[in-house]
Amino acid sequence: MRKKIVAGNWKMNMDYAEGISLFSEIVNMVRDEQKGEQIAVICAPFIHLNSLSKLGGTTVYIGAQNCHQNESGAYTGETSAKMVKSVGCAYVIIGHSERRQYFAENDQLLAEKTTAALKNNLTPIFCIGETLDERNNGNYFEILKSQITAGTFDLSAEDFSKLVIAYEPVWAIGTGLTASSEQAQEVHAFIRQEIASKYGTEVAENTTILYGGSCNPKNAADLFAQKDIDGGLIGGASLKSRDFVDIVKAFNS
Ligand code: PEP
Repeated sequence: MRKKIVAGNWKMNMDYAEGISLFSEIVNMVRDEQKGEQIAVICAPFIHLNSLSKLGGTTVYIGAQNCHQNESGAYTGETSAKMVKSVGCAYVIIGHSERRQYFAENDQLLAEKTTAALKNNLTPIFCIGETLDERNNGNYFEILKSQITAGTFDLSAEDFSKLVIAYEPVWAIGTGLTASSEQAQEVHAFIRQEIASKYGTEVAENTTILYGGSCNPKNAADLFAQKDIDGGLIGGASLKSRDFVDIVKAFNS
């Protein structure tokens, strides 16, 4: 049985007090209202990770939005996977399109970050996604295949089984444009097929694949009802407790 996960990505939002307040609301609402086995995660800026890990317990798990590929050293301004783990995080987002675009993170670097995360017992949420041009040109399957292959297919089957994959079409992130359920399902089925070709059916069937891109309380249930969509990576809507928790609950509607 693959895990159902809804992970919020706060990006560079929420100062310390705002973060504590929003997160406390989310924890209370999830505790009171959540039914079913789905896992809720909040991926917050580094300043929040220590406090939120203590507040979240096993009700809402905490993730970082990035980590460095090395354990320690002269890398001013960076935070390693080991450090992220040491404050109680369980997850880390790797390869978000904003990291690829604004911080020039390439496939090789992302493969190194994934390895570092796994070595430190963090679950990487490994993101792939095509731009609008790539979708319009019709070569998006090729792009997605090359991103997942270069970023993760050097891992052993045992290590790959520890990943969560997130399909996030770049044209749908923060734009209000959502992939339709059919468009998203088509890509998720393709990703699962690629995983099966590389690692076999059992690994593919057990891999959690999240959808991300303007997911909200209105469209979540329809997206999550698709056979190969196992939850969501949620940006904007994770900044409002009611919206985020309604998305977590969308599995049950
Ligand atoms: C994201 O940043 O991962 C994301 C999916 O953002 P949004 O939900 O705002 O489109």
